[in-house]
Amino acid sequence: MSNTMQLDKTYIAGTYARFPVELARGKGSLAWDVNGKEYIDLGSGIAVNGFGISDDIWLKAVTEQLGKLPHASNLYYTEPCAKLAEMLCQRTGMKKVFFGNSGAEANECLIKAARKYAAEKHGADCYTIVTLVNSFHGRTLTTLSATGQDHYHELYQPLTPGFAHIPAGDLDALKELARTTKIAAVLIECVQGEGGVVPLDKAFVEGLGAYCAENDVLLAVDEVQTGNGRSGQLYSYMNYGITPDIVSTAKGLGGGLPIGACLLGEKVKDVFAPGDHGSTFGGNPASCAGGVSILGRIDEALLQGVRQRSQYIFDQLTGAKGVESVSGMGLMIGIKPVKPAREVVGRCIENGVLCLTAKDRVRLLPALNIPMEQLEKAIAVLKAALAE
Ligand SMILES: *Cc1c(COP(=O)(O)O)cnc(C)c1O
Repeated sequence: MSNTMQLDKTYIAGTYARFPVELARGKGSLAWDVNGKEYIDLGSGIAVNGFGISDDIWLKAVTEQLGKLPHASNLYYTEPCAKLAEMLCQRTGMKKVFFGNSGAEANECLIKAARKYAAEKHGADCYTIVTLVNSFHGRTLTTLSATGQDHYHELYQPLTPGFAHIPAGDLDALKELARTTKIAAVLIECVQGEGGVVPLDKAFVEGLGAYCAENDVLLAVDEVQTGNGRSGQLYSYMNYGITPDIVSTAKGLGGGLPIGACLLGEKVKDVFAPGDHGSTFGGNPASCAGGVSILGRIDEALLQGVRQRSQYIFDQLTGAKGVESVSGMGLMIGIKPVKPAREVVGRCIENGVLCLTAKDRVRLLPALNIPMEQLEKAIAVLKAALAE
């Protein structure tokens, strides 16, 4: 065990089951550990390094900003923050943006916006936010309460009240709940990421959209993992033909620096007044300058490349030896192996490929621009590990 591993085990809180790799540097979809061993990266820091590690254009944008103004409080105007908000609104049709530093923080803002809107419009007893069983919305106490997985809840009672969970695909369960409970919002991930890379059914999402519009229930989409090109569209809801009222995003938006954003649509655009919400680091100029350089390059050509790479992975792995099933969308792919997923990932690491797990699946979240040659090599390694 390396010195760093020893220090980490001694001094870092035991919340992570790390793999036995000490990464030192990376470029694009390649990473190297402290011993100089090379890896092809199919995880991109959990969908964060969308253009690969230390992408040149992103690096230039961020370092230029670091030399000018790395941080200013939200008492002042800064260009990267305003510019990124404009780009997000122009690309989505949403109206206003609140910036935080993480997915959980983006979802906290989403929840606050929904509660405030619903209370003002429908009364103080209209606060329930409905999420889906098997969803994941973050680790703060409130986003954990929103998360529809009991095993995350057990250790942290009492949770934040005001959340209800319905099974994905079950619109009747929502209608049944609405008979006894005032519903402020429905929050979904179009592809449940941590839940095992499970896309929602199209008819269900369309039905949800229609129900929310008819009943003035806010439709909120968590695009923290699925967003910023990952699904093959800029945001995953764009694959479903719905128009959400609120969207949260984070991970890939920053290209490697912490950022979170809550996008407010027409209904809720003016829900917040000065003092209602805030974040010291939110809208940080360096993070936002990185975001501008990322979002500006998620164009149709890039998205087409995402869909092509996705098709390649599906073709290679569907029905391959040791594979029970393949699920996902774009470059967010879950593989149900015959063997335990963690074993497959361990074998891949030995053979120079970094990938992830989600529940009982092997999860792939490669950079959106991973060179085909590297992808082919990595998939060959993965297939061999699955087939063993
Ligand atoms: C990762 C994730 C979050 C939490 O984001 P953090 O940046 O870790 O706080 C929330 N929702 C979804 C769908 C995620 O994948």
